[in-house]
Amino acid sequence: MDSQKTITVTSPLLPDLEEFHGLLKEIWASKWITNNGSFHKRLEKELADYLKVPYISVFTNGTLPLITALQALRVNGEVITTPYSFVATTHSLWWNGIKPVFVDIDPATCNLDPAKIEAAITPRTTAIMPVHCYGKPCDTKAIQAIADKYGLKVIYDAAHAFGVEVDGESLLNAGDLSTLSFHATKVYNTVEGGALIMHDEQTKKRIDYLKNFGFAGETEVVAPGINSKMDEVRAAYGLLNLKQVDAAIEARRRVAVRYREALRDVPGITFFDDMPGVRHNYSYFPVFVDAEQYGMTRDELYFKMREHNVWGRRYFYPLISTFSTYRGLESATRENLPVATRIAEQVICLPMHHELSEEDVERVLGLIVR
Ligand SMILES: *Cc1c(COP(=O)(O)O)cnc(C)c1O
Repeated sequence: MDSQKTITVTSPLLPDLEEFHGLLKEIWASKWITNNGSFHKRLEKELADYLKVPYISVFTNGTLPLITALQALRVNGEVITTPYSFVATTHSLWWNGIKPVFVDIDPATCNLDPAKIEAAITPRTTAIMPVHCYGKPCDTKAIQAIADKYGLKVIYDAAHAFGVEVDGESLLNAGDLSTLSFHATKVYNTVEGGALIMHDEQTKKRIDYLKNFGFAGETEVVAPGINSKMDEVRAAYGLLNLKQVDAAIEARRRVAVRYREALRDVPGITFFDDMPGVRHNYSYFPVFVDAEQYGMTRDELYFKMREHNVWGRRYFYPLISTFSTYRGLESATRENLPVATRIAEQVICLPMHHELSEEDVERVLGLIVR
């Protein structure tokens, strides 16, 4: 075992402790610690401005917005989704009694392949739930065209897509609703947290009811809502992190530039370049290992990195469709999901965060470049 310090795959963006203490004092003085307090309101306003979205509702994590979005749009029956994501995407369907229908991904983006969606639509299909995997935009136009043709809702799991813009417009405005995660491991965090992005005030109102037990007033409950409100402490923390997220994204971009430069000509290693017109957030840096060309399997490389205290992450592996809850579904077979199956066996996300030093980056590269 190597004795060098551990390089982790991610590191949480933390606000300045003194500043946070100042805001905590305000919260203590106000004695208003949750239930749509002033920091909750301010965070929603500042996030909407930063993200260039009309309406946002903040949540206590990134999974409840998925579950709530499906409730808000009364989605049922079957929903078309990707197996190449974090389990929460599919779990949100299961928690709503909806049958997930897996469709394969496009190797150029790791996102749901629009060309394969129509073949999976049945009379029970009510919605599509794509993921902007690694923050790379889905083909939102092609997906919307299919949704319009068949009368389906589109809910984007945009957990990776904080701040991503396409031609100057927020990617989060695509579809009927988009969800975000503000988990500690994401580009922007509120320790735990998340949000729903919507197009109109009426939908925001309904979602605000749903995240507070369905209360529409002191004595009126309009729906079987849940409790997924964000508290004042985390809203204050989130306001401070918003001030430094641009600098964090820029630090990540520099790491991505160096990784690409060093890995460009390594046989058997591929990765993504920036897409034209897209403001990326550099949330992850996945590389794909072709064992034959590289001379080492993905797992061999992954465990070699571990031995040298460099923690990558096989993200996303295994595919959601292989877990016990889902593997019995007709759409969960390897034959239906050849691209996702192959990519899940080739991927390693390299360490990627705002605090990686040049030396750290060279240590990671030294284990891969050959
Ligand atoms: C992180 C993540 C979630 C869940 O978010 P939490 O805040 O951890 O509940 C959902 N979907 C994807 C794609 C994620 O990466």
